[in-house]
Amino acid sequence: MSQRVVILGAGTALPDRDRDNTSLVWDSPAGGLLIDCGGRAYQQLLRADIDPKSLRGVLLTHNHTDHIYGLPALLFHLWLAQYPGTFDVYANTSTLSMARRLVDALELEQHGQMCATAWHELPETIDHQVLTIDAYTISTTPVRHSRPTLAVKIVDHERQQTLVYSADTEPCSELEQFAQGAHTLIHEATVTDPVNNYTHTTPRQAGEIAARCGVRRLALIHFSAEYTEPEEQAIAEVRAGGFTGDASVARELESYSL
Ligand SMILES: [Zn+2]
Ligand SMILES: [Zn+2]
Repeated sequence: MSQRVVILGAGTALPDRDRDNTSLVWDSPAGGLLIDCGGRAYQQLLRADIDPKSLRGVLLTHNHTDHIYGLPALLFHLWLAQYPGTFDVYANTSTLSMARRLVDALELEQHGQMCATAWHELPETIDHQVLTIDAYTISTTPVRHSRPTLAVKIVDHERQQTLVYSADTEPCSELEQFAQGAHTLIHEATVTDPVNNYTHTTPRQAGEIAARCGVRRLALIHFSAEYTEPEEQAIAEVRAGGFTGDASVARELESYSL
């Protein structure tokens, strides 16, 4: 089986009928990595035919509720499932601190009710290499959001291709440099107003960014057909932004190979 990314949730901070809070997983025979953690992480992994115990860990992009609230449940579920070894949690300083406090609040560690966990603090430096193994490399770079946030890059060594996930961000040069020449860009598209954007991106801006980065495929995420705009309109906006490659709105349990 080749490596792939699977969308576990594709929605905005407020879920809608079709899309839960945004999270994704890099699935690899060499042990994958969860990126952000909604409340249904364990079950969604099963639905995606991924053994949760095969994961190496989770990378949390920032500490907004919709991206981290499921972590205590995941560590508890992995303990119940007898996760072998130590589960790695990667995040920037403020996110790691909040994640640990979340887990502490449920007294999981005191009661021995979580899998063995290693906490890894990520610096806010450009193109920081988080993890590299034979099959793939993961790196992060800071983007612009209302709290410190890291975009994520995955280099698939087998296919010699790159995927970038923007995380929550307003359009920024840091992300564009990070995603330059990538095969696939999974970019947030939460809002439609580029001025009152609450540090988020519009579908048209995502299209402009994808065009400037020269990616082959753009998938919009952190999107709601109900709260953002209808999907067809969003894709028309991506085209208006000048992107001519493969464009779609991410759906739960959809997977992308590079
Ligand atoms: Zn969010
Ligand atoms: Zn956010």
